[in-house]
Amino acid sequence: MLHKLRELGMTARVFEAGSDVGGTWYWNRYPGARFDSESYSYGYSFSKDVLNEWEWSEHFSAQPETLRYLNFVADKFDLRRDITFNTRIKEATFDDNSNSWNVISEDGSVARAQFLITAIGALSAPTWPAIRGLDTFEGEAYHTAEWPHEPVSFEGKRVGVIGTGATGVQVIQEVAKTAKHLTVFQRTANYCAPLMNSPIDAETQQQIKAGYDEIFARCAESNGAFLHKSIERNAVDVPEDERNATFEELYNKPGFAIWMGNYQDIVLDESANKMMSDFIRTKIRERVDVPLVAQMLCPKDHGFGMRRVPMETNYYEVYNQDNVELVDVKATPIDLVTERGLRIGERHFDLDVLICATGFDAITGAFDRIEFTGKNGVTLREAWADGPVTYLGMQTVGFPNMFTLVGPHNAATFCNIPRCIEQNVEWVADALAYMRDNNYECAEATEAAAASWTDHVYEMINMTLIPKADSWFMGVNHNLPNKKRTFLAYAGGAPRYREKCDEVAARGYEGFELK
Ligand code: NAP
Repeated sequence: MLHKLRELGMTARVFEAGSDVGGTWYWNRYPGARFDSESYSYGYSFSKDVLNEWEWSEHFSAQPETLRYLNFVADKFDLRRDITFNTRIKEATFDDNSNSWNVISEDGSVARAQFLITAIGALSAPTWPAIRGLDTFEGEAYHTAEWPHEPVSFEGKRVGVIGTGATGVQVIQEVAKTAKHLTVFQRTANYCAPLMNSPIDAETQQQIKAGYDEIFARCAESNGAFLHKSIERNAVDVPEDERNATFEELYNKPGFAIWMGNYQDIVLDESANKMMSDFIRTKIRERVDVPLVAQMLCPKDHGFGMRRVPMETNYYEVYNQDNVELVDVKATPIDLVTERGLRIGERHFDLDVLICATGFDAITGAFDRIEFTGKNGVTLREAWADGPVTYLGMQTVGFPNMFTLVGPHNAATFCNIPRCIEQNVEWVADALAYMRDNNYECAEATEAAAASWTDHVYEMINMTLIPKADSWFMGVNHNLPNKKRTFLAYAGGAPRYREKCDEVAARGYEGFELK
């Protein structure tokens, strides 16, 4: 966004809580953190030089390489000179008289701008487990999204991991390699599938570089902006043998093929969903030696793909190791964190290290942690009290000149995220340029446009099975009992979203009142 604004000849200042660039990849430095998107489908597409100069070493890059990539891009475009690091914003207030925003950081400094663009992330407000005694633990305690910059050793240590979402799965399979003993505290089992990562050889590297146009064109056609596009047939209409052969093939394909490239009805139709869920449960039973443990790892309360599918590398085999124990904390939750570990019912688990892979206050959390005040003193928290109401997930009524990249109800929340970020950035940049060229000072979404967009968001998601499961998509985080259960993302697909955004722009920013 900064680069694009500079290209338009605008001045911009970026405020960043971290001490350097990288966002997600700056904070989430936990062992095992890596892409679930094919590396070359994840990088920026806007610069031919970046595409030519950068070489990904693996099909699914690990966090250190991704952070190096983001530093490479920041250096290349000399971005840091307009970024103020180590600065957390606490308030942003719209001034009706000047149609501008006052942005106040935690140290009290104030910046003033005509436009406020948020790029605060969808999964950037980590939540620790709401368990009594957490602050009394005398061992090492880490949240995966606040991981230290120094290496952490598990050698000879008793480690506990709470959480088995996409993050927990990545960290567990890594920690199990060196910990003296690992206890995994699982509340909800997920349907994990093999990532099938591998190094990129020289020949493939050349093909990738020569094929970027095609790679991005394929992403543009796919609902999640991945290289995988769903099969335009229903699983329920396909003979059993053929269907199972397809499932098997998808299970052995790299990345999200199994989720994004599956039959089109897998997350729409209960019968199709059951077929796929049964298939994965069978795989889990085949891979885990002890039937009771396999049973614990089989999801029971939701179907495949209704929650984010964690990608894994030998994850299930970890439970065949002598140094690993799986503990079900659904039936009997963790009562207490003590000075020496965790207590569950009668049993105490002695731990040297406690890792919380316990997720985020998703999508609205980062917004809630800043006091945004729009027109007439109304806060964003008040405006979204019954769930977000936005126009295109880009703007909220009463918050003129504020644009929310990857905001709630924006397709970027359900996406191979940089692909959708680029769309968001280009769209906002075009809107700002249009305003400048037409002498408009202020843009505000109308109530009617926001209501109609919000209806569309719910219409799309209600066609799927996703609302049936508790997930961060649905605003569910049991550590935040007051968070409202409501859909926070956009499930109509990136192509449809892009089309809608383009239509709005082509009609002179229809749905916005321009002054
Ligand atoms: P998450 O999916 O919200 O998972 C949090 C886990 O912690 C869940 O298993 C949850 O159990 C458990 N948990 C939370 N509080 C607990 C408590 N008090 N007691 C016991 N268990 C508790 O968070 P995440 O794994 O960090 O993943 C979030 C998202 O980040 C992913 O869905 C994905 O979009 C993204 N991500 C991406 C990548 C990648 O692209 N490579 C990697 C990692 C994450 P319940 O399910 O029962 O609540």
